[in-house]
Amino acid sequence: MSADRSRAKPLIVPVFIPHAGCPHRCAFCDQTAITHAGPVLPDAAAVARQVRTFRSLARPDRHPVQIAFYGGNFLGLPEETVRSLLAAAQDHVQRGAVHSIRFSTRPDTIDERRLDLISAFSAADVELGAQSMDDRVLALSNRGHTAETTRRAAAMLKARGYNVGIQMMVGLPGEDPEGAAATGRAVADLRPDFVRIYPTVVLRGSVLARRFREGRYPPLSLADGVERTAALRLLFEGRGIPVIRTGLQASADLAPGAAIVAGPYHPAFGHLVLSKIFFDMMVDASGELIAASGELFFKAHPRRVNALRGMGNGNLRALESRPGVRSVRVGGDPALEPWDLTVSDRTGRTIFRRAVESPEPGSSTCG
Ligand code: SF4
Repeated sequence: MSADRSRAKPLIVPVFIPHAGCPHRCAFCDQTAITHAGPVLPDAAAVARQVRTFRSLARPDRHPVQIAFYGGNFLGLPEETVRSLLAAAQDHVQRGAVHSIRFSTRPDTIDERRLDLISAFSAADVELGAQSMDDRVLALSNRGHTAETTRRAAAMLKARGYNVGIQMMVGLPGEDPEGAAATGRAVADLRPDFVRIYPTVVLRGSVLARRFREGRYPPLSLADGVERTAALRLLFEGRGIPVIRTGLQASADLAPGAAIVAGPYHPAFGHLVLSKIFFDMMVDASGELIAASGELFFKAHPRRVNALRGMGNGNLRALESRPGVRSVRVGGDPALEPWDLTVSDRTGRTIFRRAVESPEPGSSTCG
């Protein structure tokens, strides 16, 4: 097992600031629906409650512990508010209960003045909501900034030594598969420390919901959302950039018919993405063996066996229904890397595939 995979998992203590600091509402967004919280800013007591709750529920070896201000535009808040929220978090850093702070913010909030302000606190990770690197898509999404804003913000953060995360979306208005791939390449060129990929869903109360009702916004199907995200995940992993999340966090509030009106939402979206990547590899690798005997035995890293199976064994059933396939079995092999696959038949002939030629073998998040 590689050093990276044996490392303890970070513990993120989320503190939500729904829509706080937002200059306007982006077309796809309704943070109140996502977090089910009103636009009330947390105070020091609320931050302390979150730290207590999350630490008491987590395994003691989780490392590092970070307080994360999510759900709004952190550096868009008034300076005094930014300072008091960071001070509330810093208090827990000083007591040793928390290691550092992270927050998400819009690229157009990154300037020298704000970076000077946060430099007095233990902020380590800054997540930029880039969403797209196509100016037309950004305009159609009412973002109010351009791709160049994101490039400049990422460079400034890196120059100050922050870990930079980039959040991007697939299926925004005006985006097609080539546009999603182009955004992926442009994001990778920023050399972020990690990436999150979110499918665009239509949230009740959002501008997109109105456009959807009026027939002016066709959301991606679930299959298309998974396919675009799978291609992006491979792109980033191939450039050595960990993808720490694909898909929205599942919750009762996000169940279809609750906050979500339409779009490619699935509570196990990330699993669907991995399953799609492995299904495509299984089809590609098995051609010659189907012709020879039709008895297929696939192996992957043990943590990837569920991806081999697919949701509800869907990958296995789809393969079994292909002409010439007589049986399909799957198993784990710890000697394989997270993006490797082998398939063999009863003659012992084995075919090997690797989805990602990672510059750092074993560096994948394997999640
Ligand atoms: S996407 Fe971010 S900046 Fe836009 S409205 Fe939502 S929280 Fe605010």
